[in-house]
Amino acid sequence: MQKEHVHTETLKCIRLITLDGEITTEEVWDLATFFNDNPDAQKYWPGSVLWPHLQQIFADDVVTVDEMNELGKRLRDLEKVCETVSTEDIPEGFSETYQSLEETEFILPLINKTILIEGRGEAKPRYLADLRSHSCDCQDWFKRRKDLPKRSPGRMCKHLLQAFGMSQPTDSDDDEPWPKPFVQLIQGLLDCGIDAAAAAYWRKLVWNDISCIVGWGGSDWCSIYQRDRQGTFERFGYNRTERRWAYGEIPPDFALIRKYLEALE
Ligand SMILES: [Zn+2]
Repeated sequence: MQKEHVHTETLKCIRLITLDGEITTEEVWDLATFFNDNPDAQKYWPGSVLWPHLQQIFADDVVTVDEMNELGKRLRDLEKVCETVSTEDIPEGFSETYQSLEETEFILPLINKTILIEGRGEAKPRYLADLRSHSCDCQDWFKRRKDLPKRSPGRMCKHLLQAFGMSQPTDSDDDEPWPKPFVQLIQGLLDCGIDAAAAAYWRKLVWNDISCIVGWGGSDWCSIYQRDRQGTFERFGYNRTERRWAYGEIPPDFALIRKYLEALE
């Protein structure tokens, strides 16, 4: 693999959508839309390999379970290829920064509302997102989110996320304002058009005026969400068993985040 022929935007897009190769029909559509909108991404690696495969999947307008499993396997292989051996030096002043770290747990607000959300695909499926029980009748919710703890942000499939986005309390409402980390999370996910990682536990971490949101539990992968200096919402992944970062991409304060994640139960 020659570095100059790698399309980094494609890798970023895949990292946002999935860390572990677990992929839903909607996410396959998202990937296809990305390639459709980016002719350059189709030409260069990994699009040069993935795009023909996606075209094949969509050739008959039906995305089968076998096709999704095969695509998931390809994405997992791709993630491993991207793994780079990096020298992760512990920065100066690390322990003081770590001691100043504050964490806030946050959970989904309870709202007495159900909203019909239109899904992706030729048949224009509609899903019922329930903001009180945090449930949805889509395949993704039943497959990955149903058994997550009550009020865990990981219960948010794309439809629940959209439903929350449409229900933000306004100043004129008598509703309780939502927890700030939750508002930041849904805004970031909506900006990127992605769902929440199917992680059981979520916290906001703050240190030296910097913050990120972490989600873990349910798989070896932890998700880290953070806005960069330009304000772009980013997702990083850390595998606690294999002790490595997804796609070899390391967040600026990797040492602190890694120490925090490794100390978790
Ligand atoms: Zn759903």
